[in-house]
Amino acid sequence: MEDKSFEISLKCLFCDSPLKADSEKEFDSGDLIECIECHELNDYDSVKEIAIEYGTAQATEYAKKELEKSLKKLFK
Ligand SMILES: [Zn+2]
Repeated sequence: MEDKSFEISLKCLFCDSPLKADSEKEFDSGDLIECIECHELNDYDSVKEIAIEYGTAQATEYAKKELEKSLKKLFK
């Protein structure tokens, strides 16, 4: 299996823009992240939960494709 990393980006709950954190800054549970686009405050826990859900879906999809590829090789 080739190496592939999944980009999981945090997105604004209000306008769907990517949330950019100050580099080096780590968020903690309960933090509010201000969106640079709409200036709404996003609850870090909610944003993270959505990002994890999205990342999990992507990883599942990727694993499924890899599995299909190996199965096809097996049965050619
Ligand atoms: Zn926003």
